[in-house]
Amino acid sequence: MAAASSRSKRRRIHDNVEKALLAIAQDSTHSATPTDVTGYVDGKTVLHENDLVQYSAPSPSTSADAIGILPTDYSSSNGGVYADDQDVAEIFSSNECSDDSDELNDDCLADDIAHWFKECSIPQVHLGSLLTILKKYHPSLPKDPRTLLETVREVSVKDMGGGGSYHHLGVKKVLQNMWNRGLLRLPADNQQLLLQVNMDGLQLFKSSGYQFWPILGSVVNALYKHVFEIGLYGGYKKPADIAEFLCDFVSETKQLEDDGITLGGVTYSFAIHSIVCDAPARSYIKCVKPHNSYSSCERCTEVGKWVSGRVTFPTTDKPLRTDHSFRNMTDEDHHVGKSPLTALSIDMITQFPLDEMHLVYLGVVRRLIIYWLRGPIEYQSRLPGRAVQTLSKHLLCLQQHICNDFARKPRSLAEVDRWKATEFRLFLLYLGPIILNGVLPVEHYRHFLLLHVAIYCLTSSRLCSSHIDYAQKLLLRFVGEAPSLYGAEFVVYNVHSLIHICDDARIYKRLQDVNAFKYECHMKKLKKLVHHPQNPLKQAVKRILEKQNVAQASDKHDSSSNRGDSIVGQHEHSSGPICSSVLCVKQFSKLFVKSFQVVLNRKNNCVMFANGDIGLVCNIVQNHNGEIFVLYEQFKKITSFFDYPCQSEDLGYCFKASHLDHTLFAANAATIATKCLCLPHEKDVFVVMPLCHVN
Ligand SMILES: [Zn+2]
Repeated sequence: MAAASSRSKRRRIHDNVEKALLAIAQDSTHSATPTDVTGYVDGKTVLHENDLVQYSAPSPSTSADAIGILPTDYSSSNGGVYADDQDVAEIFSSNECSDDSDELNDDCLADDIAHWFKECSIPQVHLGSLLTILKKYHPSLPKDPRTLLETVREVSVKDMGGGGSYHHLGVKKVLQNMWNRGLLRLPADNQQLLLQVNMDGLQLFKSSGYQFWPILGSVVNALYKHVFEIGLYGGYKKPADIAEFLCDFVSETKQLEDDGITLGGVTYSFAIHSIVCDAPARSYIKCVKPHNSYSSCERCTEVGKWVSGRVTFPTTDKPLRTDHSFRNMTDEDHHVGKSPLTALSIDMITQFPLDEMHLVYLGVVRRLIIYWLRGPIEYQSRLPGRAVQTLSKHLLCLQQHICNDFARKPRSLAEVDRWKATEFRLFLLYLGPIILNGVLPVEHYRHFLLLHVAIYCLTSSRLCSSHIDYAQKLLLRFVGEAPSLYGAEFVVYNVHSLIHICDDARIYKRLQDVNAFKYECHMKKLKKLVHHPQNPLKQAVKRILEKQNVAQASDKHDSSSNRGDSIVGQHEHSSGPICSSVLCVKQFSKLFVKSFQVVLNRKNNCVMFANGDIGLVCNIVQNHNGEIFVLYEQFKKITSFFDYPCQSEDLGYCFKASHLDHTLFAANAATIATKCLCLPHEKDVFVVMPLCHVN
């Protein structure tokens, strides 16, 4: 790697790539510019389409001025661009560089182009065009993208039964590669490496049944919890022989459990932390009955009952399964074979957490909403059309108040069949209690609140450990009351499994750490690795190996998005307001604190402090000592939004906030406890929900 500073590197790559992209855009043979690159801002910045949508300046109706808080529209203080830490804009947008073009270094340029190519998922044909152009100015650059990316010419795959094939990338190899690239860092006092594993099927094409079954991993006790590929299967149906599919993974993991893993000269002990999958994948790899069978509950010996065409699980007090009973196959009706995973030193019950993403959000919450929209007519749960319209209208109205911590804004209930897990989570944890109030029949609303409070507690790191027993009580009540409100057929596998989910929270501290969200996100990236239908598995493996070879610039960029506990101000401005109690030397419009960003716009400036105060941040300032303070206006009146099953205020969330005092207060940014969603309720009254799924 060249010794050039990252800033000058960004400048050079920006200049060169921009020049080349313009040339491609003008070239009729390449009229389709790279799909992810959508535009130029001031001739300087290349933005993703998503970034433009997410970070554009607030509309007039949502701007801070509309509620008389901010003197200026801070979003324009940096040229209107609030680039997120994950986007390409940051890489290319720096305009503070010194003019050091004489130091151009083609090796460095090659690294940066490789980084840009990987970040933007550009088709290789466009990279080829870019290299052809750049080569005129930098003769030492390779002409062939495969040379630049150090593409492996041939990938060996293992043929498996049923026409599928598998490539094992290897736990040890990948972890050592990550260590060498600075991507894997363990806390200083830690001597053990804990691996979380995920397996699931991924349909690649709409027009064929070809699917991947990746084995993904993440080191849960590392400082940066990157997801990486351990092995990849591809075929027209899921692996026919589970033993063959897991063979390489199990034998390598067993070896690591025995010998540990040496990284940077230190040998760490190695253990599987958890295996996170959805219910069908769990039943497949554990070799137990699928979730629609009678003895399918993975936690208790409840035998299902057939009600209205489905298997239901009405009772909640059956004996629990244990690792011992599982390995001895005590309940013969539960097993369909011997899982190859029993060769590992893992608990076959507790180390397979009931992934909340599939169970709670895509399972129970979706089921509730479907029952409200088109459930059995004999139960009052089915809402009249006008009520459904009202709910949809509320959801759409709230779009403009959803902060940047949510990947998706709420959509109408008419689109519920296309809602993603994050949308169901937004609904259950934040929006549901507000918009369902007065629309659902009272009993059904109170029943929904049982689920809402329980899952909010189990998701929140602040509440989880102290409120597990309470959440368990609420979930038992939720499952127990469900048949009288929605019919006996409502209590299917997912609904029943809610009574077991607190056991996971007890073991893993909070559900947040054992769900499949980050793996689902990674699966989307895997899908993008395949550009044509020939040999999808080999294509994907080549791209994964290329990524491992791509220069460290990319990795450092990844790591910089994990800012840990540091408090960082970004995007300087000079527009005020300032306050006499803090001697301000710098002002910022964006603050990184803990795992969220506070931004000076109406959607992203509501915070709760450690002492319980709630305020709207009006400015972020730094004093002579480098300490960062927030200047904020405080809500003077805070009350509970709901009073069943408890006063929401007593749990420290879901507040009705009013009487905003326009006096400017100052607080050290370190005293911010969490960012909040601040939703309009009545005139000058807001409902404030501290975010629980972020930190
Ligand atoms: Zn059970």
